[in-house]
Amino acid sequence: MTLFPEMCETVVSESILGRAREKGLVEINCRNIRKYTLDKHRRVDDAPYGGGSGMVIQAQPVYDCYKSLCEDLGKKPHVIYMSPQGTVLTQKKAIELLKYDNIALLCGHYEGIDERVLEEIVDEEISIGDYVLTGGELPAIIVADSVCRMLPGVLSADESFMNESHYNSVLEHPQYTRPEEWQGKRVPDVLLSGHHANIQKWQREKQLERTLAKRPDMLEKAELTKKDKEYLKSLKEIRCE
Ligand code: SAM
Repeated sequence: MTLFPEMCETVVSESILGRAREKGLVEINCRNIRKYTLDKHRRVDDAPYGGGSGMVIQAQPVYDCYKSLCEDLGKKPHVIYMSPQGTVLTQKKAIELLKYDNIALLCGHYEGIDERVLEEIVDEEISIGDYVLTGGELPAIIVADSVCRMLPGVLSADESFMNESHYNSVLEHPQYTRPEEWQGKRVPDVLLSGHHANIQKWQREKQLERTLAKRPDMLEKAELTKKDKEYLKSLKEIRCE
């Protein structure tokens, strides 16, 4: 639900999400809030009560847009208001959102949306970070992308999201592709060896090394085996030497 559906449509029509939509793996509809205004000049916003700069999106068009969505779906979707005041999006939150069959992402613009309609229809607020953007469209696309790529069939098996950064509270290992040598830098020999167990061991060690170096805070939540812990201990010892 947005005042700028073309902005969202363009992005979700491309690449992996675009293909997933074509294959019918996910349905994404961008609804224009303006279409539901009862104002004869098609206005959807007005000045804030109490004064202040900027405009506020009115309750009526947002509510009617939501009602029409509920009618089309035949049920109430899980409504998320994209807001800098919401819970910050994480991989864990994206995984949690997979449980909903229908999600409606409500995008604010200008100074935001009349609080009364938010109280009426919103189930949760999600922020994409502690900064303020001009509208909720980019945040909504980010939420849609982070959730939809985990739906069955959207990524091919060899692009599995389960080994990626954040999924298991560790960062992903480095990736390489052809050629084997570029500007004097060679792809690590182990990756060319074809030895599966050694490759897996190397990838796991790199995951741990990177996470320790870049995001040590994540390791507190990571599920670590005895071997992982021993490897991390050895890395920390090397650091202290
Ligand atoms: N006046 C609001 C405030 O101070 O909380 C900010 C309004 S912002 C300029 C306009 C719209 O952009 C918001 O209604 C929201 O939908 C969206 N937005 C801005 N920053 C966001 C963020 N970090 N995460 C999610 N949505 C955001």
